[in-house]
Amino acid sequence: MKLAIIPVGHFDSDYSVLSPDAPVGQRVHIPVYTYLLDTNQGLILFDTGCSNECRIDPAGLLGAEMVPLLTPKLAPEDHIEGQLKRLNLTPADIDLVVNSHCHFDHAGGNEAFPTNHFGIQKTEYEAALEDREAYPDLAFKPADTARITLYEGDTDLAPGATLVYTPGHTLGHQSLLVELNDGPVLITSDAVYTRGHFSLDHIGASKSLELARASMTRLLDLARDGARPFFSHDAEQVAQEGWKLAPYWYE
Ligand SMILES: [Zn+2]
Repeated sequence: MKLAIIPVGHFDSDYSVLSPDAPVGQRVHIPVYTYLLDTNQGLILFDTGCSNECRIDPAGLLGAEMVPLLTPKLAPEDHIEGQLKRLNLTPADIDLVVNSHCHFDHAGGNEAFPTNHFGIQKTEYEAALEDREAYPDLAFKPADTARITLYEGDTDLAPGATLVYTPGHTLGHQSLLVELNDGPVLITSDAVYTRGHFSLDHIGASKSLELARASMTRLLDLARDGARPFFSHDAEQVAQEGWKLAPYWYE
């Protein structure tokens, strides 16, 4: 099992977007990541980052009122296609694309995978189809159902790679547990934005707070049992904890 943590751009954000209780006016810099697993079932990509449209026309995608609160800082090469190229890969090399959830900063890059097989939670797929406003960048078309596997709860993707069902941030959110030689890494995705949100008392923006609380309890338990959490949008974690980003591969 190998894991590469791939940076795919940044946002300049108002902290109230991450923590709805926080007052407007505090700016934070937030990174966006995707994750590539090299498994005995092939290459599995977890999340795809933002679309090209998000860089070129953020107001068109997110709405003019949202852009000042969540301002994309994206370079053309931040797109997942450019980042795979740095690893000498193309979208056609990816055997399975999994979305933690279908928000624009996690599934926008799905556009680079027009023929690949996808895996997402059934609850997330249904929520995304129903609420197009909350999912402005959903690249799936009705004809795509043949290439989408809908998961229902925890799912083993490959030996050492397990999806952990963590609804709450969205109705069908999932995190990813990866077994490496030095122990498990827990890729929380937006179930936990930052170290400061890794607490039942500081849960980030959630569609369902009740579901998010139950998911947080599960993730805290996994971390207590030894899994090393990697948060979705933490500006300090990589430097503070010494994480290495792609092209480095964890084994
Ligand atoms: Zn996110």
